[in-house]
Amino acid sequence: MKLKKKLVVFTGAGISAESGIGTFRDSGGLWEKYKIEDVATPEAWAKNRALVLDFYNQRRKHAMEATPNTAHLLLAELEKHYDVQIITQNIDNLHERAGSTKVLHLHGEIMKARSTADPTLIYELSGWEIKLGDTCAKGSQLRPHIVWFGEMVPNMDMAATYVQMADVFVVIGTSLNVYPAAGLVEMASADTPKYLIDPAAFNLLHIPKLTHIAEKAGNGVKKLVQLLT
Ligand code: NAD
Repeated sequence: MKLKKKLVVFTGAGISAESGIGTFRDSGGLWEKYKIEDVATPEAWAKNRALVLDFYNQRRKHAMEATPNTAHLLLAELEKHYDVQIITQNIDNLHERAGSTKVLHLHGEIMKARSTADPTLIYELSGWEIKLGDTCAKGSQLRPHIVWFGEMVPNMDMAATYVQMADVFVVIGTSLNVYPAAGLVEMASADTPKYLIDPAAFNLLHIPKLTHIAEKAGNGVKKLVQLLT
């Protein structure tokens, strides 16, 4: 049997935009309505748990109503031809719902809750709300299973290893503003073909063998599939 080539795909908020989930930094994006420091930091949690829970409850509700778009679905189909590893900065589960089988979440998962006393206690949520007073098995308040600004990114080393092993590396819909995740783009080997799918302009000329497909995710991934299969 011929081994499939390893296709590593690094996605950001832009891939879920066509599913109706807003990005953070685009105009009309989430951070125009909320301040990061009020809702997505350990300090915010210490100051106002109700506000933080409410922010993520709204995100969860919205993510549950959204459905995978063409880009998510085509990436799942590419598993017929490639060993596809998704690395996502997104907290939604649209890659999984589209059928992708290997998805590494860098910034956490909105459909999970975690104990505030023991980080190994992680729970799958079926509803949209975590309420004040919802507790883990050890009796402490549950928090969203999200990596907040200022927290460590536990899956970063694993992600870097995947990128270094890639035969083909694809980046979709990320402004490359949030570190350390954005640094992944620099880690693929010099001779690995790389594709960036994002309608915005980027200054990445220093990265060898990079093709910029300046399209929204759906059309961009259609073009990618034509190039790769
Ligand atoms: P970002 O908001 O900083 O950047 C979004 C990027 O997507 C921009 O480069 C923009 O040009 C591009 N884009 C916009 N519409 C697009 C489309 N239709 N197709 C392709 N690209 C499109 O997002 P980021 O770089 O992912 O970083 C912000 C952080 O926000 C991440 O940590 C991520 O976890 C989080 N986030 C997640 C979600 C989600 O889970 N769906 C949504 C918003 C933000």
